[in-house]
Amino acid sequence: MTLHGKYDPDNIFAKMLRGDIPCVKVFEDDVALAFMDIFPQAEGHTLVIPKDVEARNLLEMPKKKLGAYMERVQKVAKAIDKALKPDGIRVMQFNGAPSGQTVYHLHFHIIPVGEGQSMRSHASGEPADTEALKALADRIAAYI
Ligand code: 5GP
Repeated sequence: MTLHGKYDPDNIFAKMLRGDIPCVKVFEDDVALAFMDIFPQAEGHTLVIPKDVEARNLLEMPKKKLGAYMERVQKVAKAIDKALKPDGIRVMQFNGAPSGQTVYHLHFHIIPVGEGQSMRSHASGEPADTEALKALADRIAAYI
């Protein structure tokens, strides 16, 4: 996949938005859906995706919808801060395969980081235990 291309309505995040495949939800409204990353780079790794838009990346996000979406990204980051009390929070977003993007529906990663803690590798390894993800999602959701 390159930086430029056609939006695939069957990408996994689009399927989650349609309810065709499950995810562990943290937050949802008419603008965005936030859910736990199945290959967390650190405990609490959450993804926030925009709804009702065919944007593969940040460059393709309609300007009119960007502000409301970014408010949700911030809302989830603040909830992670309150719930998990990390020392830092990494907010990441990739555009195009060479940058690290693997799923082609716009998303921001919100990754809590502890002092001196190294992050696990990106989008690889063993998937996390669903019950453990649900427990984390509940803790974060309590602050939204
Ligand atoms: P990207 O590489 O596109 O920036 O990030 C895609 C993210 O989606 C990765 O962090 C990866 O772990 C996550 N991911 C891939 N497949 C699934 C899935 O089926 N469910 C969930 N919850 N996350 C996924």
